[in-house]
Amino acid sequence: MAVAKKRPSVGSKRPVPPRRSPTPRGVGRKKTLKAKAKAVTDPDQDRLSYIRGLIRDVPDFPSPGIVFKDITPLLADARGFHMTIDSFAEQLIELDFDTIVGIESRGFIFGAPLALRLNKRFVPIRKPGKLPWKSDRVSYELEYGSGELEIHRDAVRKGSRVVIIDDLLATGGTAGAAAELVGRRGGLVVSFAFVIELGFLGGARKLGSTRPISLLQYD
Ligand code: AMP
Repeated sequence: MAVAKKRPSVGSKRPVPPRRSPTPRGVGRKKTLKAKAKAVTDPDQDRLSYIRGLIRDVPDFPSPGIVFKDITPLLADARGFHMTIDSFAEQLIELDFDTIVGIESRGFIFGAPLALRLNKRFVPIRKPGKLPWKSDRVSYELEYGSGELEIHRDAVRKGSRVVIIDDLLATGGTAGAAAELVGRRGGLVVSFAFVIELGFLGGARKLGSTRPISLLQYD
């Protein structure tokens, strides 16, 4: 016969949290504060390592020589996806902005939940021919060939403070083109946010003086 596990009865011994020794004012206090600061940053590193562990390298996709950073394992891991949105939110919460612009298509995946979390407007930038309303178009150079992006003309208000988000920063062409579209509508790009930055391609240099927020750097 199966026996149900015994549940601890009320009044049974519970784990007692370790007693905190009182911090004396003066000499030892600075050390304690330093230790506390370290304790706060370490979980961040753990979180970023966890996210990094969910990015899959796919060699030679979509063409020979390219190592594609596949984020689908990250999206399929609820904890990792939460951690990613949390990490972005913590870095963006101090910024003064009103709109998140997501770049099709993987920028939508991170941009929309973040806009909800931070109570900001969400605006999609799409590949040509997808937007139904009056749109502005920009062409830009890619590593091989060229690309085009569009935005609705009424999507960004004049004077709007915008954060542009995508999954990955490579050469910076895509994010730079998105910034061009926002600028043409009278918006001000206050920051860029990426899950992954391929630092060795130098894309950040194309984004002006704003240092992008990149959760994971690959050098
Ligand atoms: P770029 O315009 O060169 O900065 O390229 C960035 C855009 O291309 C982003 O929308 C990425 O999703 C995609 N991309 C470029 N390189 C990669 C890569 N190695 N792995 C995954 N996506 C990439």
